[in-house]
Amino acid sequence: MRKLIIVLITTLCTIVTVYASTELPDIGSSSSRGFSLVKEQAVGNDYMRQLRAFAPIMNDAEINDYIQHLGFKLVEHNSAATARQFSFFIIRQNSINAFALPGGYIGVHTGLITKSSNESELASVLSHEIAHVTQRHLARRLELQSQLTIPSLAAFAAAILIATQSNNPDIGIGAAMGAQGLAQQALINHTRANEAEADRIGINTLYASGFDTRGAITFFEKMQQNSRYYSNAFEFLRTHPLSRSRITDARLRAKQYRPRNVSDPLRYHLIKEKVRALTSKVNSVTIDKAEMLYKNGELKSASQKYGYAIFMSRAKKFDVADRILKQLQLSDYKQPAYAIALAQLDIERKTPGHSIKTIRNLLNNSPGNLALVETLAELYNANTDFSDSRDLLLKNIHMTTYAPYLYKLLSIAQEGAGYKSEVYETEGNYLLTMGDLSGAKIKFEQAINIQTDDPYARARINAQLSNINEYIKQRRLRR
Ligand SMILES: [Zn+2]
Repeated sequence: MRKLIIVLITTLCTIVTVYASTELPDIGSSSSRGFSLVKEQAVGNDYMRQLRAFAPIMNDAEINDYIQHLGFKLVEHNSAATARQFSFFIIRQNSINAFALPGGYIGVHTGLITKSSNESELASVLSHEIAHVTQRHLARRLELQSQLTIPSLAAFAAAILIATQSNNPDIGIGAAMGAQGLAQQALINHTRANEAEADRIGINTLYASGFDTRGAITFFEKMQQNSRYYSNAFEFLRTHPLSRSRITDARLRAKQYRPRNVSDPLRYHLIKEKVRALTSKVNSVTIDKAEMLYKNGELKSASQKYGYAIFMSRAKKFDVADRILKQLQLSDYKQPAYAIALAQLDIERKTPGHSIKTIRNLLNNSPGNLALVETLAELYNANTDFSDSRDLLLKNIHMTTYAPYLYKLLSIAQEGAGYKSEVYETEGNYLLTMGDLSGAKIKFEQAINIQTDDPYARARINAQLSNINEYIKQRRLRR
C-alpha cells in the first residue's frame, strides 16, 4: 500500500510536470498589458478544467448544491459581484482553508465546513473570498508580476493534491517536503492591503446577507488559536496573512454592525455532519467509537443521528443506517437529505426501485435541486430505466457546468437506451470539462462521424471542436 501511494504520487507529479510543459494556460506572461475580465475568465476556466483533473474535488451533489446556494446568497448581496461569474467547489482536505482562482472559482476545504461553529463563520470566509474576486486582487497580481508563472501554477495544483496526502504517515518524506516547498512557492499570498480590503467588503456582504458579523471574529479567533497548536491551520494564514492589526481592525468593523442571533438552518447542520461522516476514516476503531456514542445517547440532534447513519452506511452496516434514517424521516418526511441517503442505501442493496417514487415526488416539489436530479438519475440507471435517466439528465444538462460528473451518468443512460451516437459527444464533453483537450477532441471526431436524428448535433459538436482548437492554439502561442 505504501509503495502504491508513493508510486501514485510520483506519477501524478510527472503528470503535473508534463502539464507544465504542454497544456498550461497563459497567466501573467510578460507581454500582457492589462488583464481584461474576458481574459481573466478564459484563464480561470482553463485553470479550473485542469484543476479538476488532479485536485481532490469532492463530487457529492448535496454538499455541492449547498455550497453553491450559500455562495450565491452572498454574491447577491455584493453589488460588484453580480456582474461576475462564480462557481463554488469543495476540496476534500481537512485543513481550514478556502481560496479564490481567477474567473470567480472559489474552492472550500472540507475542514472549513466541519470546523465552523455556525453558518455565519463559514459564510464569513466565503464572502472574504468573493471580495478577493470582485476587487480583482488575483488579476492585478497577475498583471503586475509574473508571480504565477507556468511552472508554479502546476506546482500550485500539485501542492493542493499532495497536501491532501500529507496527513497520511505512508507518504514518502521526500514527497512531503517537496510538496511543502512547492506549496510555499506557488500558493497565492495576498498582501496585507488586499486582506484588509477583502475583510472590509466581506463583513459588509456578510451583514447584508443576513448573517451575524460576529461570525467573522469568532472565526479569526479560532484560526489564531488553532495556529498555535495545529499545523493544518497554517495554509489559510499563509495565503491570507493574519496579523494582530487585521484581527483588531476586523473586530472594530464587525462591531459597527448590529449583532444578530441567527438560527442556522437545519441544512447547514446536516451538511456539516455529512461532510464529517464522508471524510472520517472507516475502521474497526472508528466504528466502535461511533456505535458507543450512539448507544450512550450522545448523538442527540437529528443532524448528528443523520451523520451517524451516513457513517454506518459507509461501514456497510446498512440495516442500522436504514433504521435510523427511517426514524428521522417519520418526524420530517419532506426532508430531501433523509430520502437521498435512503436512496443511496437502496442502490447499495440493489433495490433501486424502492426509492424512485419518493425521489421523483421530491424533485417535482423542488425542480432545481441538483442532489435530487443526480440521485434520481442514479436510481434510474441502477434500475435499468435508461430512457427516463437520459430524459431527466438532458432536461437538466445546464447543471453539468458545476457538476461535471452528471456527464458520467448521462453516458451510461445513453448507452443503455441505445443512443450510441450521443455517448461519444457526452464523453467528449466530460473530458473537455476535466481538462483533457486531446482526449475530448478524439471523442468529438468519433461523434461527428455517426449518423443521428438530432438536427443540431453536428453544429453542437463542431462548435466544441472549434473551441478545443482555439484552446490548443492559445496554449501553443504562449510557449
Ligand atoms: Zn484573503
